[in-house]
Amino acid sequence: MADHTKIPLGGTWCVVVAAGSGRRFGGPKQLELVDDEMVVARSVRIAASVCDGVVLVLTPEIMGDVHFDRAAVTTSGGATRSASVRNGLASVPDDAQVVLVHDAARPLASPALFERVIEAVRQGAAAAVPAVSVVDTIRSVDGGVVDRDRLRAVQTPQGFDAAVLRAAHASGPEGTDDAGLVEAAGHRVVLVEGEPTNLKITSPHDLAVADLLARLADDAADPADSGS
Ligand code: C5P
Repeated sequence: MADHTKIPLGGTWCVVVAAGSGRRFGGPKQLELVDDEMVVARSVRIAASVCDGVVLVLTPEIMGDVHFDRAAVTTSGGATRSASVRNGLASVPDDAQVVLVHDAARPLASPALFERVIEAVRQGAAAAVPAVSVVDTIRSVDGGVVDRDRLRAVQTPQGFDAAVLRAAHASGPEGTDDAGLVEAAGHRVVLVEGEPTNLKITSPHDLAVADLLARLADDAADPADSGS
C-alpha cells in the first residue's frame, strides 16, 4: 500500500480501471504489450507522472501478472465499470481534491492531456473530459443523419472535483463513463481538447495500432532510444 501520509493535502489522484474481462478482445488486453510495456503498466506510469497517487483496479485473477515499477495502491474490481470505479474511489485518500478516472485500455493518453484535464478542474470545473470531433458521418439506426458538428467522442482521463465524484457515485449508479453520472447529478461537464491518438484498445487491431503509435510517441520523446 502507498503511504498516504506522504501525499500533499488536496492532492490529485487517479483511479485507473483495469478490471474488465476483455470479452470483445478475447482475453485480458490489459496484459498485452505496447512498445514492449504492459498496457496497464503504461497507463499507470503516465498517470503517476502527473498525479500525487494512483489507485489501480484489477481483477484478482490478473493481480499477480501485472508488473510495473511505479507505486500504486491496488484493489479489486466490480462487476461493471462503474462498480470498479467505486472500489477504486474507496482507496483514494479523503483529502484528495481532484480525482481522475482513466481506462487502463487507453495507454496512449499523454501527460499533456492529463495536465489539461487537471488544470480545468483546478480552475473550478466540477467535471472536465477530453473530447474529439467525430469525423465519420453518423446515421441513427432509427433513420436519418445526425449533425456531427454537435457531437464529440469522449475519452479518459476524466477529471472531477473529488467531492462531486464521490457524491455522484454514492447511490451506486451505472454508466459507461463518470462524466455522465456527474452530469445526471446536476453538474456541468467541461470539454477539453482530446487526442485523436488516445484510442481505447477494444480489438486486436486496436492493439496493433496502439503499439505503433506508442513506438512513434516514445521515439519522438527520446530520439536517442529509437530503433533499439
Ligand atoms: O468495457 P470497456 O472497454 O468500456 O472498459 C473500459 C475500462 O473499464 C477498461 O480499462 C476496463 O478494464 C475497465 N473495466 C473495469 N471493470 C469492469 C469493466 C471494465 O475496470 N467491470
